[in-house]
Amino acid sequence: MNFGEITEGLDVEGAKHVIDSILNAGFSATIVINRSSFEIIYENKKARELIGSKIGCACHEVFCTKEVPCQGCPIVSLENTSILISKYEELFDEKATWVFSNIQWFDGKDAIMATLVKLEDKQNISISNDVIELSDDKRNLRKSEVDNLTNIPNYAKFYIDAESTIRSNLDKQYAIIVFDIDRFKNINDLYGMSKGDEVLKFVGNVLRDTFGCSGNYARMHSDMFSFYMEYDRKIDIIRVIEKIRKKISSNGVDFDLNTSFGIYLVQDRGVPINLMCDRAMVASKTTKGDVMRFCAFYDEQYREDMLRISEIEHDMHKALEERQFQMYLQPKFRLDTEALCGAEVLARWLHPSKGIIPPVDFIPLFEKNGFILKLDEYMWEEACKTLRSWIDEGREPIPLSVNISRYHINHNNLENVLMGLVKKYDIKPEYLHLEITESLFLDNPEELNRVLERLKKQGFFLEVDDFGSGYSSLNLIRNISVDTIKIDKDFLDSEIASEKGQIVVNHTIDMAKDLRLQVIAEGVETKAHVDFLKKSRCDIAQGYYFAKPMPLDEFMKFDF
Ligand code: C2E
Ligand code: CA
Ligand code: CA
Repeated sequence: MNFGEITEGLDVEGAKHVIDSILNAGFSATIVINRSSFEIIYENKKARELIGSKIGCACHEVFCTKEVPCQGCPIVSLENTSILISKYEELFDEKATWVFSNIQWFDGKDAIMATLVKLEDKQNISISNDVIELSDDKRNLRKSEVDNLTNIPNYAKFYIDAESTIRSNLDKQYAIIVFDIDRFKNINDLYGMSKGDEVLKFVGNVLRDTFGCSGNYARMHSDMFSFYMEYDRKIDIIRVIEKIRKKISSNGVDFDLNTSFGIYLVQDRGVPINLMCDRAMVASKTTKGDVMRFCAFYDEQYREDMLRISEIEHDMHKALEERQFQMYLQPKFRLDTEALCGAEVLARWLHPSKGIIPPVDFIPLFEKNGFILKLDEYMWEEACKTLRSWIDEGREPIPLSVNISRYHINHNNLENVLMGLVKKYDIKPEYLHLEITESLFLDNPEELNRVLERLKKQGFFLEVDDFGSGYSSLNLIRNISVDTIKIDKDFLDSEIASEKGQIVVNHTIDMAKDLRLQVIAEGVETKAHVDFLKKSRCDIAQGYYFAKPMPLDEFMKFDF
């Protein structure tokens, strides 16, 4: 495993960030040791949780609590064997042991990656030579290499076997496959732990049945199993998976057992086996929620996505401090008079090296990692500042609509933040329109209602964004005092293409108006859209037909 290659081109901080995302993706505790100084130079979250921070300590202080390197230090003797299992587990947990492998750190130095492997058995695993002997006689598994529940190999054994096979047969192609049982937790919850155990034993038997004594499979932890196999074509792997899936689903238990498989095709044989398993696991996660897919190959794209994500996460705080996020405004026009009547505030990231990054590339990520709270507050403040400057210039301010993400409803004191801003800039709340996406109305309507009622009382103007994009209907928002619905672009496109669809849009607009809601259409791109919307009594339009989102100075060219 060469971290230098993976993090090429990144500065030290960026490289550490990428390594963090790789080494925190799995479930094991991992420590990296400088091979010549014995110093611990990296630990992942799990390691920190388990043994506290050990950065800067010498490895022997941590693994063996000795002041000098141990005699026969496994790290020193790692020269000729690529993997060793030591006996230091008693220091942390009787049922755990460390697995060591050679890697190259991002700075080019030789390093050792130590991964804590939990064992199901108290007996120690013996070290290197013993292990090699053992692989000659795989029929006799040591107690410590067996998973207590299923009696198949455990993951310590799997790591050793997979590593020695894959590294010593360079002329053959190998794949590592991991799988788990969909919604296994439900089985435990609904039918009890003993039923859950029965299922796991059954899956263990299926693997034993399929592979016999070859020892190329294991129960990794809870409901996660793995195997590795040699292959010529990808279809060879799929066939084996299909066979296993079939056996598992035609089980003796009286409920469905579905499984999701992730496949990692081994390329760089220097990647530690636990990371190969993590990659296969990442692939298996992509099949979840898709009943038509039961297996997926690990794709380098995932790694690239991960790199991209970690770069964005690495840059985002600095970007906010350095004001790289810019407010763009997209005008809204009244359809009857074509007069400018508002604008939506949309974020753009003016990245110093990557250029303008559109919101689709960062908003969904910020919504996941929570940074959206900070970005949105920044955007709202930009909007309030703009409104204040218009007032100071003696203009009648045009209301600005800001986006409120799902995160705010659950995590923040939305009302206080917004009230704080309107007070700070001394503007009337009615100039700030709040766009709340339709799907939020399905989440927890009661809670949302409480939040919205309070905002409404304070004088903010509420808009339901992306209306028609999901399953919500006027019925759902009937009881919530919103002011406006914004008809979603895709809804508009798909419906007005057909005569029946046009009737649906017309009726939607009619009903909204009967409920005294204002109607905005977004994504208005063509003259045909405009004509249709005018006929259907839609009030306001926003879209490329009129204008694209633009920076403030350009927006100021509009006369108002
Ligand atoms: P949205 O709230 O539905 O915003 C409307 C999006 O439609 C904007 O994309 C806008 O540029 C685009 N659009 C407007 N007119 C047309 C048109 O005629 N044709 C087409 N094809 N597109 C049109 P944008 O700016 O890329 O923003 C995408 C989404 O990102 C927004 O969707 C919103 O959900 C989110 N977003 C953008 N800025 C922010 C922000 O500051 N905070 C939050 N929470 N979300 C934001
Ligand atoms: Ca919006
Ligand atoms: Ca929208």
